[in-house]
Amino acid sequence: MTDLDLVVDAHCHIEPGSTSVEELLSAMDNLGIRKAVICPADRYIAVLNREGNEYILKAVHEHPNRFIGFATVNPWFGRQAVEELKRFHDMGLRGLKINSFLQGFLLNDELVHPLVETCEKLRMPIYFHTGTPISAMPFQLADLARKFPNVSFIMGHMGYSDFWYDAVPAAKRSENIYLETSHMWVDLIRESVKKVGADRVLFGSDFPKSELSLELEKVKRYLDVSDEERGMILGRNLLKLIDEH
Ligand SMILES: [Zn+2]
Repeated sequence: MTDLDLVVDAHCHIEPGSTSVEELLSAMDNLGIRKAVICPADRYIAVLNREGNEYILKAVHEHPNRFIGFATVNPWFGRQAVEELKRFHDMGLRGLKINSFLQGFLLNDELVHPLVETCEKLRMPIYFHTGTPISAMPFQLADLARKFPNVSFIMGHMGYSDFWYDAVPAAKRSENIYLETSHMWVDLIRESVKKVGADRVLFGSDFPKSELSLELEKVKRYLDVSDEERGMILGRNLLKLIDEH
């Protein structure tokens, strides 16, 4: 099996009436991407959680070998958010997407703890958007990650753009933090592989906000790593986080 056979995009969005399943699948096919993590888009992360999750679930059920679905819930809904997360987990979604900037809370606020505890019980990784002050910063993620050592935390976009310089030192604070590469420049991805380790870097595109081909090319062509390490970054690390390896 070649590395290309194992490419898994750790971060994509689809949205009703905007970015369709077919659009994403054809981009994946053109580039030889086998699987992608799909999450609801902005409006659905902020308010229309159930509609967003249902759209993701439908795509996963239609293409179970191509998509890994992440649910989103807004922690301000409290108990109801926890129930919603469990419900979508039971129906087949495999992780949680949080955007504390869109959802209106500080990333390390205790408000999010019940959801993190639920992910711990259900063994689901959590993807956090980072890079937007004051609510979504890398060191806030490190603070949270240290409180929940058994949960896997994905640092979305590695603090891009304003807090890129915090990404590596924040990830070094807690071994359960994984760095996702979308939007980030090659130099910092290289530094994170060197200082944090190839086993904690995940290729992601943030499709459709960035070009899938460009994001893939950065990892495939411009990192000075072994074939094995490249395979880990391109997909194997992500599959491990969802216990599929
Ligand atoms: Zn995103």
